[in-house]
Order: sequence, then structure tokens, then C-alpha cells
Amino acid sequence: MELIYEKSKPGRRAAVLPRRTVPAATIPSELRRSAPPRLAEVAEPDLVRHFTELSTRNFGIDTGFYPLGSCTMKHNPRANERAVEVPGFRDLHPHQDADAAQGALELMWRLQEILAEVTGLDAVSLQPAAGSQGELTGLLLMRAYFEDRGEHRSEVIIPDTAHGTNPASVTMAGLELVDVATDERGNVALDDLRAKVSEHTAGLMLTNPSTLGLFDEGIVAITDTIHEAGGLCYYDGANLNAVCGISRPGDMGFDVVHINLHKTFSQPHGGGGPGGGPIAVRGFLEPFLPIPAVTRDGDRFDLDAHRPLSIGKVRGFAGPFGVFIRSYAYIRRYGPRLREMSEAAVLNANYLLKHLREAYDVPYDRICMHEFVVSAQSLKRNHGITALDVAKRLMDYGFHPPTIYFPLVVAEALMIEPTETEAKETLDAFVQAMLAIAEEAREQPDQLHEAPRSQPVGRLDEVKAVREPVLRYLFEGHPRRE
Ligand SMILES: *Cc1c(COP(=O)(O)O)cnc(C)c1O
Repeated sequence: MELIYEKSKPGRRAAVLPRRTVPAATIPSELRRSAPPRLAEVAEPDLVRHFTELSTRNFGIDTGFYPLGSCTMKHNPRANERAVEVPGFRDLHPHQDADAAQGALELMWRLQEILAEVTGLDAVSLQPAAGSQGELTGLLLMRAYFEDRGEHRSEVIIPDTAHGTNPASVTMAGLELVDVATDERGNVALDDLRAKVSEHTAGLMLTNPSTLGLFDEGIVAITDTIHEAGGLCYYDGANLNAVCGISRPGDMGFDVVHINLHKTFSQPHGGGGPGGGPIAVRGFLEPFLPIPAVTRDGDRFDLDAHRPLSIGKVRGFAGPFGVFIRSYAYIRRYGPRLREMSEAAVLNANYLLKHLREAYDVPYDRICMHEFVVSAQSLKRNHGITALDVAKRLMDYGFHPPTIYFPLVVAEALMIEPTETEAKETLDAFVQAMLAIAEEAREQPDQLHEAPRSQPVGRLDEVKAVREPVLRYLFEGHPRRE
């Protein structure tokens, strides 16, 4: 397929801009272009066809089942989009005075209250724009808290099953990483944890349910251990889809939680944006939260920037507002029955696990939460078929592959998360495909190494792609034709 730049013909246009009514001189010269931007020049039909064709080569939650573990690729209800399109929300300027944005502030305040309730904590900031930014914000809060108390604590304990963003956030926050092992049931190894805490411990970062899809059986002993050492407990709530309305991080003993609005609360994601990673904290951490805070006084809502202990601003304006509307609309449609969302997610995952165990190894054999990890280790040993082969072949069956080779503690890992929005027929079709692939591994393993065969591109040479990246179009653009 040609690039849009290769389809470019000088003078072709898909749109004509209105004549300028502002004299050019009113715009400072350093803000004006000296040459037109190097954009492709194409007529509207060609433009539409180009991007429509591109879109058909992509895979999304609207095209098929997308069981990407840890990513919670659930259906995005269209009712949310109607809420976002309400003119009072859609046309609001981010610099609008609070007086003329009362509805928007009220929505944010209500969302904060709901997230406080769901997490069992006291105060919320909606500002962080992703889970990973929530992590960084939470860690900066913990640092600010200890600095305010005159305590020098710099170590953050993280299990070896953690999502890669956890250790990255610790390093970015200027803190030090301490690893804790996972025991044979998939829980944090308590002996190891006890050996690692000290007067240097700033806290623990834990994903629960873990990336193995398991609810930690020692959760209260874990948070007690950290608190007894004077540290704080951070809950990576990216997996909150498993526990909403059932159990709450605050009740488990956690002090800071981030929530992924683009996972649990249905903001569309997968193309890199926009996301939402609010954090919820215990009351004693509230003074450190980012500014401005959304506050309520009687019937009036406001943005409060006067918080002397605040870590400052972590995002432009008040945060990703469109994401808040979608998440709020989604949560309100469940209302007090929000737990049904999590119950169905857990049921779907266990249904898949029960069927897949016929053909795949189950490294931690327990009831799972919203996701689970199986392994292709036996297929590899007996037939030379790896998790990568299975994932690539799934594309030929019309499914997005699950997450593979993560978490790192499981060899040949396939991490599967069906979400609650899939029907039994879809789950059954996925089981059939997974079992058929295991059968193919026994019967015709060579063919599997060549999958996928039905896609616009076949098996990519990933090592070469990393070693010899071709980024010409990204960095240089296409030469403008005169
Ligand atoms: C997705 C995820 C994150 C990071 O969230 P982003 O919004 O992608 O930055 C962190 N931890 C876990 C367990 C996750 O699944």
C-alpha cells in the first residue's frame, strides 16, 4: 500500500481554508511559518479511501475479540459518546471561569466521590492522564509526605510480577527499587517481604489482583508489614475491573491507589490515547495532591490552587475531561450494580481457564480473577511451538492475541483477559481456536511457525526491526514535490 505522501499531487486539495480575516502582522513573526507545512496534497475521495483502507487493516475492539491481558479491552458503549457530545461539555474552553463551568466541575467532583467510594479512600485527584502517570504522581506524594515529616526513606518494594511501569515510575520519582519474590501459590512471598523492609522503606507498590490474575491471599499481612516498618502502601489499580463493588483497596490497607479510567471504566484505548489515571489517597495525604483540586462548597464547585504542600501540577488544565465524562456515564449506568461488571469479568475469565487447561499448562492452579496466565511450555518442549507461535496463529482465527511473555515469572506465558462484555459464543469460539492451535502444534508444527498467513503482513522479523529501524518517513517526511 502506498503512503499518503506517495499519492500526493501538487495543488490537489480536500479542503479550502477560509480567507484570513486577521492581519498577518498581528501574529508575531516567530510564530509564523516561512514555508507551507510539508503535507500530502490529495483530493477528498482519495483521502477518504486511503484512511478507510488503512482502518480495515487494523484490529480493534470493534472488529473482534481482544483478550489482551492486563489491558482490559472491553466494549466502549456508544452512549458515552453522546454524553461527550453534549454542547455544554464539548464546547467548554479549558480556561473557562469556574462560574461558567459549574456543570463540568460538578461532574468531576461527583466522579471523585465515586472513585473514593470504589477504592475505600478519602480524597481523589483526577489529573494524571494515564496509569503510569498516576504511579509517578502517587510516588511523588509519598516522597513529599516523608520529606514533610523529615524522614529519609527512599526504597520502594515491588514484586517480580509487576507491570514494567512500576519500576520505571519508582526510578523517575528518584526512589530506589527493591524486588520481592512471588511464592509457589502466586502470592507475594511474605518471608522475603519481611526480610526486605527496613527504616529505608518508603513503601510497597502492589498490583492486586496481580498480573497473574490472582488475588493475594496474604494481602492484609502484606500491608501490615509495610505499615509496621513506617512505610506507605501503593495499590496499582489497573486491575480494578476484577474487584469493583466487591472489595476495596482502602479496606485492604492501601494508602494510595491509581485507577485506569481507560481500562476499568470504558474510555476507548489501544491507540495510545487519551487515558485517565486518577489517584485516590487517605486523608493524611490529601494536602499533597496535585493542584488545582476540584472542591465543593454547598452548591458551588471550584478549582482550588491554594495548597501549600501540594506537589504541584501534573497535567495541563484540570485533566483529560472527555475521559471523565465517558467514565462517569459508564459508572452511572451500572449504578449500585457496579459489582455485576466485576462478577461477569471474573466469571468469563474462569470459564476460559477451565476450558484452556485441557491443552495449556496452568502455572498457578487457583480460581482466577478477571484474567489468568497459561503457558505454552509443554507445547514448546514437545513440539517446538512457543507462545509467540500461538499468538501469531490466533490472528488467522480472527482474534487479537493475548499478552505474551508477561509476567516474567512464567515461561512461555499467555496472559488472557476476556472482560465482562463478551458473550459466551465469543468465548467458546476463542476456546475452539486455542484448542485447534494446540492440535496443530501436534500435527503440523512447521506450519505454525509461518503464521499469520491471513494478515496484510506475515511473520515479522522483530529482531531486525529493533536492530535496523527504518524511520525515514517519520524523521524526514516525504520530499515536497515542486
Ligand atoms: C496498564 C497497566 C499500567 C499502566 O497504565 P497506563 O495507563 O498504560 O500507563 C500499570 N500497571 C498495570 C498492572 C497495568 O495493567
